Amino acid sequence: KLYNMVQDLKGNIRVFCRVRPIFNSETNGVIDYIGRDGSLFVMDPSKPQKDARKTFQFNQVFGPTATQDDVFRETKPLIRSVMDGYNVCIFAYGQTGSGKTYTMSGPSGRSATQMGINYLALSDLFLIYIRTCSSEEDDGLSLPDATMHSVHSTMDVLQLMEAGEVNRAVSSTSMNNRSSRSHRFSYITQSYTLSESNDLTSLSFFCSIFMVHVRGKDTSGGTIRSCLHLVDLAGSERVDKSEVTGDRLKEAQYINKSLSCLGDVISALAQKNAHIPYRNSKLTLLLQDALGGQAKTLMIAHLSPEEDSFGETISTLKFAQRVS
Ligand code: ADP
Ligand code: MG
Repeated sequence: KLYNMVQDLKGNIRVFCRVRPIFNSETNGVIDYIGRDGSLFVMDPSKPQKDARKTFQFNQVFGPTATQDDVFRETKPLIRSVMDGYNVCIFAYGQTGSGKTYTMSGPSGRSATQMGINYLALSDLFLIYIRTCSSEEDDGLSLPDATMHSVHSTMDVLQLMEAGEVNRAVSSTSMNNRSSRSHRFSYITQSYTLSESNDLTSLSFFCSIFMVHVRGKDTSGGTIRSCLHLVDLAGSERVDKSEVTGDRLKEAQYINKSLSCLGDVISALAQKNAHIPYRNSKLTLLLQDALGGQAKTLMIAHLSPEEDSFGETISTLKFAQRVS
């Protein structure tokens, strides 16, 4: 309870940062320090030692040894607030190869402990669903088999997530009738292909958006409607104009424009501006309802620690500072 209050005081926008391990041990890293208080020190390799250090501050920072569970533990209160009727949006931001998909889905061929936020969030919502219902019925043993089926559906959802496009509803009508605070979920995952106009269909901006819709009743019989959006964004790297041309260049520019519009929207929300520029990109237009009003937003900025990535690391950190 206290934890939730602290979170609320911080406002509705949070920014976490996650640094993945260095893969090639021959390579130098630029991350100098990761603090439990959310501070991060980065060393600029082009500067003399005494001037090299740049400091950034986040709500949380996760280093190369942080587990999926470490990240989820800090995300869980936000995900649970979906059950209180808040819309919640979680974005994974960063250059290609920085670990966005690792955080949201997990690595390919993942083990049980490597499951990402998408999976852990659903498992957790199912867990509350069962707890909520069982605590307000006579006893847990009277739960119908349908409830057990809900738990299995977490795995179903994972499989369907992996398979790609899904439109599936999981519900237990009898449970809804029997409990004053039961929740029914429907799950929709879609890989949106956003393109600038019809004549640019080959220029698509791929980002994976996983949506969870929650429908339920509160204790006074009112309807709770909320949604959780879990978004694995396109890579944020700048493309060298001398290296790509034509469609590849247009695609890169379109991705960069979409991401910068997303930054504009989140920073306008953070500053509580009267005008929020949703209409500047399809991505923000699509997420308008999920981001506005009483919504809670978490941006997880991902960093590749190698020296070669220093430029992208700084631009990711600046983007993250701007929205926080
Ligand atoms: P992105 O989605 O940002 O392009 P990925 O999630 O595909 O990046 O990560 C790139 C590679 O790094 C993958 O092989 C992934 O398994 C690995 N990786 C990313 N983050 C971590 C991490 N925290 N721990 C271990 N391996 C990681
Ligand atoms: Mg990815």
